[in-house]
Formats: sequence, structure tokens, C-alpha cells
Amino acid sequence: MSEFDLIRRFFADLGAARADVALGVGDDCALLNVPAGQQLAVSIDTLSAGVHFFPDCDPVAVGHKALAVGLSDLAAMGAQPAWATLALTLPTAELAWIEGFSAGFAALATAHGVQLVGGDTTRGALSVTVQVHGFIPKGEAVRRSGAQVDDVICVSGTLGDAGLALRGLRAGTAVAAELRQRLEYPMPRVALGLGLRGVATAMIDLSDGLAGDLGHILSASNVGAELALEQLPLSPPVAEFIAQTGDWALPLAAGDDYELCFCVPAARLAAAQAIAAQCACAIHPIGQICAAAD
Ligand code: ADP
Ligand code: MG
Repeated sequence: MSEFDLIRRFFADLGAARADVALGVGDDCALLNVPAGQQLAVSIDTLSAGVHFFPDCDPVAVGHKALAVGLSDLAAMGAQPAWATLALTLPTAELAWIEGFSAGFAALATAHGVQLVGGDTTRGALSVTVQVHGFIPKGEAVRRSGAQVDDVICVSGTLGDAGLALRGLRAGTAVAAELRQRLEYPMPRVALGLGLRGVATAMIDLSDGLAGDLGHILSASNVGAELALEQLPLSPPVAEFIAQTGDWALPLAAGDDYELCFCVPAARLAAAQAIAAQCACAIHPIGQICAAAD
């Protein structure tokens, strides 16, 4: 199959069919209409085989995750996802792999109304780069820099599950299906991120681990934080791991959770809880913002 046949078959009509796409896959550029009054939010991430996923990982999961990590970045700014572009580097054109990859990518794209509008296909070591594009009403993005002293710090979901799954896969021990799902099929918190626009003062998605990622909010906002370890939301297997080892590294420093961490004034915590309930996504207060240490 030629490169062009491959693109036509697997990537030409992928995801939602959006009215704001004047021209999608097939020409030298895509032509896209940003709605009036909106800012374009753009983020790019690369997943490399052997670094970000196991080379024998199910291609459906790779396709899902390649888009999910970008949608998680959009969620963390309060952006509405719209378009994606995809740079795919493949050692050989293995049809079954490409078919699985595009199916995983397409399912998540369709679920979030995202259209794949272009990309690039080249030969080389297996690697996937996805750029995502979303809309935010002008000036309303939730940045990392807005946290205020006395804000409540919250996280969505549970922490450390992906890290525990990765640990098991690396050690070659059995990994429960739900844990593996958390590593391979992270669900970006898009609805929650959108809902928290105008409510959260600062927000970030947890890709590298709570300690480091919250650290980015603290340095951008020039504040400090007090965390209550016992309030960290943990799934039963992660809680059991900590009870056995006394090691808090999974929820604090393991990456790949793709939950949201955000700050909210105490007076707006109830509003945030109501938004989370509407999104069927639990949020948990885990501490509070304090003045930066000198
Ligand atoms: P060019 O040589 O002008 O860069 P390409 O041959 O790379 O064009 O791509 C042809 C068309 O197919 C372009 O519209 C491009 O955006 C699209 N395309 C190429 N690879 C992909 C891909 N992996 N996913 C989506 N679109 C792709
Ligand atoms: Mg090209």
C-alpha cells in the first residue's frame, strides 16, 4: 500500500466531521476557522516506542493515549477540543498495527468531537506525535499562575494507578485489568476542565506526578502548599501498596495519571464539587495554598 493509500484509508476521515474545517486531510495545508471571540489553544506531545509505551503495546491503546495526553492538556486550560494533527513515524507499514492505532485514535476523537485535519507519515523508529487544537473564549484560559493564598487544592479521580500498573508490567507480575486500563486508556478530564473555567484559579494536568506538577503551579503562582497525605484519593490497590511498603512515591511522583489538579477559593469549593458531580468525576480537596517559603 502506498503512503497516500494508507493515509486515505486510515486517516482521511478520522474523528468528527466539523463545520469549522474548510479543508482537512489531502492538500498541502488544512484550512481551519477559529470562531470569533475565541483563542486557539495548542499543545503537542510525542510518544516514542520503548520510552512512552512498550513496543508490543496494543496499537489501539497507543492510538487512544497519543490523543488522550493532548486532550488532557486542553482540559487543563479549560479548552474545548476541536482539531488534531498527527505525525506518525513507522519502521514498516504494518497494516494491522496502523488499523488498530487509527481505531483507538478515532474512537477518542469522535467521543470528543475532534477531527483529524492533517499530519505527516514517515519511516523510522516507531513514534507518534499529536498536536491538538482547542478553543477558549478570549482571556478565559485557566493558567498555572493564578493560585492565591488560602485556595483549596483539589485533584480529580485517584492517583498512582498508572504508576502501579507500570511497576507491575516492568516487573513482569500480574496487573489487574482496571489498573492496566488506567495506564493504557487514560480518560482526559475534558468536561471537568471546561466546567472549572471561571471557577478554578489555576489548573494543570497530572502527567509527571502530583509533586512535580503541583510544583509548576506553585512556582508560576509564587505560592507554597500544604498537602494532607491522608486526603490523597487512592484506589484500593494503591492504598494497599502504600500500607505494605510505606512508600508514597506512586501517588506523589509516578506519572501518567492524567487527572486534573486545580486550585479554588474555599467559597467556590462547593461549586467545583457540583460541576464535578455533573461530569461524573470525583474531585478531592488535598491541601491548601500558603505563602511561598522565603
Ligand atoms: P506534503 O508532502 O505536502 O507534506 P504529505 O504527503 O505529507 O504532503 O501529506 C498529504 C496529505 O495527507 C496532507 O494533507 C497531510 O496533512 C495528510 N497526512 C499525511 N500523513 C497523515 C497522517 N498520519 N494523519 C493525517 N493526515 C496525514
Ligand atoms: Mg508531509
